[in-house]
Parts: sequence; C-alpha cells; structure tokens
Amino acid sequence: MSDDTRSDDAKAERHKATMQKQKARVDAAIEAADTERGVLLLLTGNGKGKSSSAFGMVMRALGYGHRVGVVQFIKGQQLSGEEIYVRDHCPQVAFHQMGTGFTWNTQDRSGDIAAAEATWAKVEPMLTDPSFDLVVLDELTYMIGYSYLDEQKVLDALANRPREQSVVVTGRGGGSALRELADTVSEIKDIKHAFKAGIKARKGVDY
Ligand code: ATP
Ligand code: MG
Repeated sequence: MSDDTRSDDAKAERHKATMQKQKARVDAAIEAADTERGVLLLLTGNGKGKSSSAFGMVMRALGYGHRVGVVQFIKGQQLSGEEIYVRDHCPQVAFHQMGTGFTWNTQDRSGDIAAAEATWAKVEPMLTDPSFDLVVLDELTYMIGYSYLDEQKVLDALANRPREQSVVVTGRGGGSALRELADTVSEIKDIKHAFKAGIKARKGVDY
C-alpha cells in the first residue's frame, strides 16, 4: 500500500469519526426539542434579505396549504414582484399594505400615525385568529421605532397570539423588547450591496 493510500484511509477514518460525533450531537438536539408551538421570528439588520426571506416562508407555508396573512407597513413607491404574485396568484393569502397615507416625504407625523393605526387594525384580527398559521408583518419594526404604534400594544398582541401561529417581523431595529420576545432572531449583516457600487435596483431581485 502506498503512503498516499494510507493517508487517504486515515483521512476517511477521521472524517467518519467526526461525522458520527456530529450526528450524535444533532440527534440529541432533535430529541431535546420536543415543544410544539408556533414561533415569533425577527429578521433584522442592515443587510439585504429580510423581506425576501419572509416571503420564502410564505411559499413554504403555502406549500403545505397553510393559511397565510401578510401586512406590509411601508408603501413602496414601486410595486414589488411578491406583491404582484400574491395578488394575482394567491387569493388565499390575506394581503394588506399600508395606504398611500404614509411616505417618507410627507413629514406628516399625524397622517403617518393614522396610516399605521389603520394598518394595525388589519393585523389584530389575524393575531387573534388561530386559522392563520403564518402572519408576516413586513417592516413593522419602523412603526415601533418611530413610535407610530404603541410598543406595548404590539408586543402584547404578538405574545398573546394563538399558540400554533407563527409570525415573522421584518425590518431594521425594533427594540430590545421585541428581540427578547422573539424565539428566533436573525440579524442580516451588510457586507456589501450592489446599489452602493452604482448598480440599479433590479426587478425580481430587489423588488
Ligand atoms: P429584500 O426585500 O430584498 O429582502 P430587505 O427587506 O432586507 O430587502 P429593506 O431595508 O426592506 O431590506 O429594503 C428593501 C430594498 O432596499 C431592496 O430593494 C434591497 O435590495 C435594498 N437594500 C436592502 N439592504 C440594502 C443595503 N444594505 N444597501 C442598499 N440597499 C439595500
Ligand atoms: Mg424589507
């Protein structure tokens, strides 16, 4: 047997032992996770991928025939592909967007608050209805950050939602109480973004 073959065999043995240990760890963790309930997820951070990840979960849930609600707290200047798709092809998704009352340009705080409250009124019935398996609250964090919505009211509604219901909140910030309450918190880090290199936002990628 050549030295090369012997060292390949040793590598294969070491790899097998490492994998066995890893499998034992994963199996033990799976065994220990025995609670069945919906989860609150917070997708935050300055990097790209928060809303698009939430819509990935919408697809997952729809794949199992789950009931889904989506409420978007910022009315974009431009339609997004996910909005077009959900409106045209997913009549089973309850979809709401904050009205035109809110834009970054109005600097009309009372108008913004009224729009945020009107949109929250669409969320409340979802968070009390156990037939909704998944609720996406896209860009909700800004409503808390600007105090457009009462933080405690939002936290209470999230905490008291039906046990099997999962909720995804997206947006930068959102405060430490929301982080504390959430079961899963992912912070997407901005390493680089094409826009900063002068590349225009692209259909189907950015919106
Ligand atoms: P996406 O909807 O693509 O998942 P996001 O929800 O993480 O993005 P938002 O802050 O909601 O991020 O912004 C949405 C838009 O802004 C998208 O067009 C996205 O490509 C762009 N964007 C997100 N992060 C950055 C960034 N760090 N620099 C520049 N543009 C960004
Ligand atoms: Mg977003």
